[in-house]
Amino acid sequence: MPEKLDVIVLGLGGMGSAAACQLAARGHRVLGLEQFTSPHDRGSSHGQTRVIRQAYFESPTYVPLLFRAYELWRDLEHATKQKFLNLCGGLMMGAPGSAVVEGSTRSAVQHGLPHELLDAKEIQRRFPPIHPPAGTVGLFERNAGFILPEASVKAHLDRARQLGARLQFEENVLGWEAVGDGVRVRTARGEYEAQRLVITAGAWTGEVLSDLRLPLEVERAVLYWFEPTEGIGPFLPGRFPIFIAEDKDGLLPYGIPAVDGPAGGVKVSFYHAPNPVTADSPVAIQRAVTNEEAKVMREHIARLLPSLGGRLVRSVTCMYTNTPDKHFIIDLHPAHPQVSIAAGFSGHGYKFCSVVGEILADLAESGRTRHDLSPFRLARF
Ligand SMILES: Cc1cc2nc3c(=O)[nH]c(=O)nc-3n(C[C@H](O)[C@H](O)[C@H](O)COP(=O)(O)OP(=O)(O)OC[C@H]3O[C@@H](n4cnc5c(N)ncnc54)[C@H](O)[C@@H]3O)c2cc1C
Repeated sequence: MPEKLDVIVLGLGGMGSAAACQLAARGHRVLGLEQFTSPHDRGSSHGQTRVIRQAYFESPTYVPLLFRAYELWRDLEHATKQKFLNLCGGLMMGAPGSAVVEGSTRSAVQHGLPHELLDAKEIQRRFPPIHPPAGTVGLFERNAGFILPEASVKAHLDRARQLGARLQFEENVLGWEAVGDGVRVRTARGEYEAQRLVITAGAWTGEVLSDLRLPLEVERAVLYWFEPTEGIGPFLPGRFPIFIAEDKDGLLPYGIPAVDGPAGGVKVSFYHAPNPVTADSPVAIQRAVTNEEAKVMREHIARLLPSLGGRLVRSVTCMYTNTPDKHFIIDLHPAHPQVSIAAGFSGHGYKFCSVVGEILADLAESGRTRHDLSPFRLARF
């Protein structure tokens, strides 16, 4: 007889670690299953830092979720006596009327978020490494910054374990089925039964839910750390913000302050790369980074930050899991309401892990949540 549990969480990356933690905190018997060890660098939650911000150009509907996400990140910091959030400020730049500046401003105004509008001269005065093209405008948000993904996944997992969750690593889920109003999950090591299943399988979601034929696409995303030619000082948190810059071609290069001292470099990337490589499955994603793509990134970023045209310190490959409209999927399974799904975070999900964990715990408990999930329903596809 398989052991009977309350909830199984399939996939213990960013979202799954938070869900396991929330469910364990509510007293449920939780089993978390993860195919790799943790932390690992084969999913979507690695690479040292993630941007966190509230003036959300993608849509103002995310802002209430962000308010709660910030509270829950702070609760986790408090509970674990660790620090993962660094609110060093954020600068959203582009031409007047660009999607990044206009969208961020709309969110800020609609939700009363503290912000300042800066012109190109003021941007360069405050942040000397940035050389914005003439006519650039920027929205500066003091409550933006970055979060540490590996450390916060670990904290969610440690906390979940402390609260009684059983977490099993290097245990690949091979399949699952609905059994009455519960579920049965099969791995190479055994079978488990539970009342509820939470699917947080990241880039593997299309495979885990192959019956649903979800419109998910896996996109290769590369992070680069460049050594500043004029020293790391002006790039340290407190002196340098996170930034996203929309250029004249609609590309969005972004960067995060230096967190690893003089030898660590400054992290930059594209929020959706030029000519992105996409696939149906993570297996098809090439991990090695070529000199040619590093050159494209260096040349691009050096137009805005000339001192980042230096040596490449390191690079790492990661994966976005995109939906067609780049908005998330957070919903119950259409045929099996005992199964909830969180996927398709389209390159901007990490900052939400804490609140998505809360939502998934709500859905597993009652099928409902006080958070507005209407933009994230599966039925929109
Ligand atoms: C390069 C890059 C930069 C990003 N920058 C930002 C940013 O600045 N700000 C931001 O908010 N977001 C950002 N994101 C997006 C964010 O990181 C992701 O949305 C988020 O990490 C997704 O978390 P997840 O839990 O869905 O996936 P993951 O963390 O990958 O977790 C899924 C887990 O499921 C496991 N799994 C899958 N299938 C199985 C199976 N069959 N059996 C057992 N385990 C399984 C996987 O091994 C994995 O550990 C970025 C993403 C990338 C790739």
